Amino acid sequence: MRHLLASAALIVSGPVLAQDLSKVEIKTEQVAPGVAVLFGAGGNIGVSYGEDGTILIDDQFAPLTEKIQTAVSTLGAQPVKFLVNTHWHYDHTGGNENLGKANALIMAHDNVRVRMAAGQGNQKPAAKLALPVVTYADGLKLHLNGEEVRVMHMPAGHTDGDSIVHWTKSNVIHMGDLFFLRMSLPFVDASSGGNVRGVVAAADKVLAIADDQTKIIPGHGPVATKADLQLYRNMVAEIIAKVESGIKAGKTLEQIKAERPADGYGVNPTGFITADKFVETVFDMVK
Ligand SMILES: [Zn+2]
Repeated sequence: MRHLLASAALIVSGPVLAQDLSKVEIKTEQVAPGVAVLFGAGGNIGVSYGEDGTILIDDQFAPLTEKIQTAVSTLGAQPVKFLVNTHWHYDHTGGNENLGKANALIMAHDNVRVRMAAGQGNQKPAAKLALPVVTYADGLKLHLNGEEVRVMHMPAGHTDGDSIVHWTKSNVIHMGDLFFLRMSLPFVDASSGGNVRGVVAAADKVLAIADDQTKIIPGHGPVATKADLQLYRNMVAEIIAKVESGIKAGKTLEQIKAERPADGYGVNPTGFITADKFVETVFDMVK
């Protein structure tokens, strides 16, 4: 997510404003031996640790880096050696410069580096040390801590630089902002090359590799199951279909919105992305 720091933080931690990051506590949830999730403000952080070193997936905001490092060390993990960014938004990459200075090797999809270097809107061009050093078009594999950790680029969805991370032995998948659990309708960032059909496609790819025991880490929200992701995928596909059929019937955006196609899915109606906002996004992308 991006655009509104307050809103991004609000999704996870209540009304936390930028100046209140000093009050944010990092909470830790173990999802498998050697794999944990850190919740604070901003995107959920995945941590993988063991004898070969610590991998972090996303890093929230710069003022939280010390607390994140403390949480990592409380797990019994070594300092962060590798960092993967699921996408370029600042609530997922804000700690990059601090971690780059602390010698973490930063990896992400090619477009994450391009977009971070250029900056856009209220996300300023990133410092050199914040930029991914290793970039990829399709993905890469990390062979660490007794398992293969697959980092896989997904075609344009939340942005045009999204990756998911799959711990193949621990059976954990971090989906970045391709998945929000119940706290908001999906955020598809058209200004960063996102596409709502890609959100469905990414969910389908994860559903194909997940089983009923898989722990799925959404970009925002609590740790989820395959069943939660299936509901999310169906919701997005159904809303697209409803908007498409409205367009085919010659209805205007206002008429389609009045039919409330995004209601009834159990998603927080006052979330970062409201039902109306999501329907507008879908309309613009499928019309
Ligand atoms: Zn995002």
